[in-house]
Amino acid sequence: MGAKRFFEGRSKLSREDQAEFDRINTEYNSRVTIFLSAVSASLLSASMTVGYISYTSGAEGVEEFWLVLPYHVACIALSLAIFFMMLVVRKKHIQRCFLSELVSVVQIAIIMILFLISSHVEIPVTGIKNINVLIIAIFAVGFFLRFRIGVTLGLVAFYVSAVVALLFTEKQDISNFYPSLINMICSFVVASFAAFLYWDSRKNQFISTKRLELLATSDSLTRLHNRRSFDVYIEQEWRRAANEKLYLILFFIDVDSFKNYNDLYGHVEGDRCLSSVADAISASVRKNDFAARYGGEEFVVTMTGDNAGMAERVGRHMLEAMRGLNIPHGDSVAPYVTLSIGCMIRRPDEPGELSLSEFIEKADAALYMAKEQGRDRFVIHPDALALRN
Ligand code: GH3
Ligand code: MG
Ligand code: MG
Repeated sequence: MGAKRFFEGRSKLSREDQAEFDRINTEYNSRVTIFLSAVSASLLSASMTVGYISYTSGAEGVEEFWLVLPYHVACIALSLAIFFMMLVVRKKHIQRCFLSELVSVVQIAIIMILFLISSHVEIPVTGIKNINVLIIAIFAVGFFLRFRIGVTLGLVAFYVSAVVALLFTEKQDISNFYPSLINMICSFVVASFAAFLYWDSRKNQFISTKRLELLATSDSLTRLHNRRSFDVYIEQEWRRAANEKLYLILFFIDVDSFKNYNDLYGHVEGDRCLSSVADAISASVRKNDFAARYGGEEFVVTMTGDNAGMAERVGRHMLEAMRGLNIPHGDSVAPYVTLSIGCMIRRPDEPGELSLSEFIEKADAALYMAKEQGRDRFVIHPDALALRN
């Protein structure tokens, strides 16, 4: 998180962003699938009821009622099964679950099969044929929201259902089949196109939001996180460390004699130097550690872990990385640019009153100790020293 890398390659989604995008979509789609299952189950029940009423009232052509009844019952049962499965999926917070993809694809297949069957089998009075439009609508929305996997597997379902329909049509009037097939192909094309546009606009929206988020939380010069981001992050980490019984390590890092550097080499060179300092810091921490520009020529790094000993290693590593850059400095404690680093370590769940702001103050105090002791060094606050391995 602290690395500079996260700023780059924004035109393409990073693997993490893609995962987040998928998670949001899956979450959203599962909600819609629940809704669609409920709607299709109720529509089918309604149409079955109407068919039954027609049958008992002796309307014309009622014989087919028994022909389609098993499909009705099967479709209602499946729709309800999907409905309850999705409720479980959502309740247990199963994200990007194969099941959730599968059930919606099954549902699309059911709706398509039902649509084809209902186009050929005559149902009396206000029977199935009259709800074709609604079925097309459900089918279109299903595709609309389930674009990626839905379209691929939906195509398979399409061919399967076409075969089923043809088998049925043999016993019926074949002339009914082609208009409804064309009808279905059209709705398939329109739904797929709409799905693509919608999916694309969701993706663009996601990318713009990510960009804005990045602008609001990062520092434009060093491309590290900014102060605002640090304030939010440290509070979260303090709570997480308390819950998970982990050490929270905070480094305060300050460039030595940086005013003199600016005076000697100018502000443009100064900016370049700060950018290199940020690189050295990024390179010294792990990918999941958090590095931010605190303000001016001051930086902070936060780490969480079950080992307090790593603080010393990382602190020394940052000093070494900075010395390794060997940026000339004509008016400082060394002939090159150096850092002073203060550090505080704490397990927030441990006894003893220490608030987060006191914890931060102690890290800052340790930085001042490093300055007092002659700069170009790493100092752990005395209150944290006992924790070192
Ligand atoms: P010390 O060793 O005690 O830290 O001395 P210092 O000179 O580094 O500390 P001081 O706080 O006196 O000076 C900090 C300087 O950092 C002053 C300011 O001009 C410079 N500075 C702050 N932000 C920027 C920046 O974004 N770009 C440049 N080029 N300079 C900056
Ligand atoms: Mg300073
Ligand atoms: Mg300084």
